[in-house]
Amino acid sequence: MDFNDTKAEAEFRAEARAFLSKHMKPLSPGETNNMLAERDDPDTITRAKAWQATKKDNGWAVLTWPKEFGGREATPIQSVIWNQEEAKYRVPPNIFGIGLGMLGPTIMAHGTQEQKDRFIAKMARGDEIWCQLFSEPAAGSDLAGLRTSAVKKGEDWIINGQKIWTTGAHFSKWGMIVTRTDPTVAKHAGLTYFIVDMEAPGIEIRQIKQINGGSGFNEVFFTDVKIPDSQRLGRVGDGWRVALTTLMNERASIGGGGGGTRTEDLIRLAKESELNGRSAFEDSAVRQKIADFYIRSSGLKYTGYRTLTALSRGTTPGPESSIGKLVGAPLGQEVSAFAIELQGLAGSVMGSAQEGYLGSPGLRIAGGTDEIMRNILAERVLRLPPEPRLDKDSAFRDIPTGPPTK
Ligand SMILES: Cc1cc2nc3c(=O)[nH]c(=O)nc-3n(C[C@H](O)[C@H](O)[C@H](O)COP(=O)(O)OP(=O)(O)OC[C@H]3O[C@@H](n4cnc5c(N)ncnc54)[C@H](O)[C@@H]3O)c2cc1C
Repeated sequence: MDFNDTKAEAEFRAEARAFLSKHMKPLSPGETNNMLAERDDPDTITRAKAWQATKKDNGWAVLTWPKEFGGREATPIQSVIWNQEEAKYRVPPNIFGIGLGMLGPTIMAHGTQEQKDRFIAKMARGDEIWCQLFSEPAAGSDLAGLRTSAVKKGEDWIINGQKIWTTGAHFSKWGMIVTRTDPTVAKHAGLTYFIVDMEAPGIEIRQIKQINGGSGFNEVFFTDVKIPDSQRLGRVGDGWRVALTTLMNERASIGGGGGGTRTEDLIRLAKESELNGRSAFEDSAVRQKIADFYIRSSGLKYTGYRTLTALSRGTTPGPESSIGKLVGAPLGQEVSAFAIELQGLAGSVMGSAQEGYLGSPGLRIAGGTDEIMRNILAERVLRLPPEPRLDKDSAFRDIPTGPPTK
């Protein structure tokens, strides 16, 4: 393992810094860009779109995308370096991640030339925002159990059903939706994938109020919504394969491996907080707890560096990259809970610790729950026997739902 930049990486980092400092102000010490609750504020969306356009016009957006789609074919490690550097500046929240990270690559892999020409450039520049309409009230981890239907009528498809947890649906122009087009075949086989105009008649978007005060995601209801056949992505009945491209790109999103920083924030907070008439940092139980977090976050940081080293050498990261989310998300929850405890009564006031704490359970669910991540590690890494999947070969309409009939 080598944690230092190579010469080429250091040059790339310097180039990124020069661009960033020309356009953005650096964060002050201790300041973060955690602005989840403000994401849907119109002013934030305007600023985010302007920043995305500036990046695109100067060659700093969609770094890893192929040149034919406006990218610069940067390596994954260059993309990580860019993310690390951008996170040091006071930039607007990234509301384009789902489109650029997951949906764009899906259109590149499965779209017609006409679809690529119509959608990709506007997505890359942030002119049009995208959302992902996969989860339903009864289909999350078991995504292939989804029930929103699409029925062909002339040159259109008619969509009926409900999606939920759709991040950014309320400010998106386009969505990607997986629907059931044939309930008479096995559940994975009867799905078809579409691009849907979020302003089409029959779509109702209801924002979900979150515990941290934000409303980042939505319920989306479809009543006789028309989608032209030209917006179908992939073949009829091939939606599961197209959806897997989206999901694989979701899992490939790589973090910056900065697990140590939270502990530094905790140390600063403990020094500033009072416990039994003296600095909380002098309390042995507090020190013990911080040492425990430090050990765990260091393990996470160096495990992240193994992934970065693999990327830097141009090889594929091993199973260690699956561990990051499973260990990191619960750790974040514990650290933010302890930060609130340290603040005593002041901890009940909404601030960054409180916002982090209330948002942290969601990170254990989004992109695969803890249990699903464990199943993946058990089956694909440890090669343990798979879970029984009794409904895999039945026609979808024959899978029992609700209580058994007497
Ligand atoms: C912040 C956030 C943003 C999101 N954004 C989007 C979005 O933009 N678009 C979108 O489509 N969805 C989005 N989601 C939804 C997300 O994909 C689902 O919440 C997730 O897939 C889990 O599905 P579920 O909520 O239906 O839970 P379920 O799948 O019903 O799971 C409930 C519980 O059962 C457990 N469980 C389920 N199956 C198994 C199993 N086989 N073995 C062991 N335990 C199991 C789970 O671990 C969990 O504890 C988002 C979620 C969050 C939290």
